[in-house]
Amino acid sequence: MTELPLALEYGTAILDLDGCTFHGDTAIEYVPETLEAARATGIKIFFLTNNSSRTPEMVAEKLSGLGIPTEPRDIVTSAQAAAAMVAEQLGAGAKVYAIGTEAVVTALAEEGLERVESADDDPVAVLQGLNPKITLTELSEAAIAIQRGAEYFATNLDPKLPNERGFGVGNGSLVAAVVNTTGVTPTAAGKPEPAIFHLAAERAGASNPLTVGDQLITDVRGAVAAGMPALHVLTGVSPAREVILATLQDRPSHLGLDMRDLLLPYEAAQPDGEWWACVDAAARVQGSVLELRGSGRLTDGQTVTLHEYRALAAAAWHAADSGENVSCPDIVVSR
Ligand SMILES: [Mg+2]
Repeated sequence: MTELPLALEYGTAILDLDGCTFHGDTAIEYVPETLEAARATGIKIFFLTNNSSRTPEMVAEKLSGLGIPTEPRDIVTSAQAAAAMVAEQLGAGAKVYAIGTEAVVTALAEEGLERVESADDDPVAVLQGLNPKITLTELSEAAIAIQRGAEYFATNLDPKLPNERGFGVGNGSLVAAVVNTTGVTPTAAGKPEPAIFHLAAERAGASNPLTVGDQLITDVRGAVAAGMPALHVLTGVSPAREVILATLQDRPSHLGLDMRDLLLPYEAAQPDGEWWACVDAAARVQGSVLELRGSGRLTDGQTVTLHEYRALAAAAWHAADSGENVSCPDIVVSR
């Protein structure tokens, strides 16, 4: 057990944006003051975004406007991670046919890559990012360059983008059109691929940063793939039940409720006979059903403490890894 605030054990925290830092145009509760306090103790804060249509300047401006003062250099986008990947594999100066907004164009220039306008300019790479003004002509040009042998890269493969009215078409769905045409699958840089995490760590000069995310299949899967610890928070997409039932590749190393857990000492669950204990709580799996010491079988809609939640997840993961078929109702976690 340690008394150190969690993030101080790592020195650098790499945060997801939507569902973790803000919801749409509103900062999530406790985030601005927690990040201010974290920075005051010397913890470096970086932000990751799979959105390849926005420049770091645009993201920094948004965060600053939400009460989280941020510089463009504190942001890593999937466009930057993809451009870095192209430069690393094909060398600076390589010709690239690119689809995307100013964010992709700038990212290519920062890596010393040459942007070309046509497949006839012999690009050695195609980089596809999201642009709301994308045209069929551009998609076809990319497909032709790929047929002629250009390496295919994508900023990210998110199939859809949530908005106030439902889901819009994400970069992954437009990439699918080119894949369908060419039969070639791109190398992607954004979450859940590890490249964007590695670039953020490199920028931060951090050998072992802590990542923070709300969605298991992107944030946590990417962190696990990058070999980095992940604090999962319950302010966004993935609820506690999904965490408890997560398979190995999607399991966070740290379970939190919200951003405040970044600055609290972390109490992990430990084995205790047939139980998994976390401070005053303990859980186990009996006949595929989760139960808490003292209150018995977990019921639908039950409210549990953060310590109980950590004990439940540890018990469920251990049982699942031992071949048990674990079930879990929807639960609410409260501090
Ligand atoms: Mg998120």
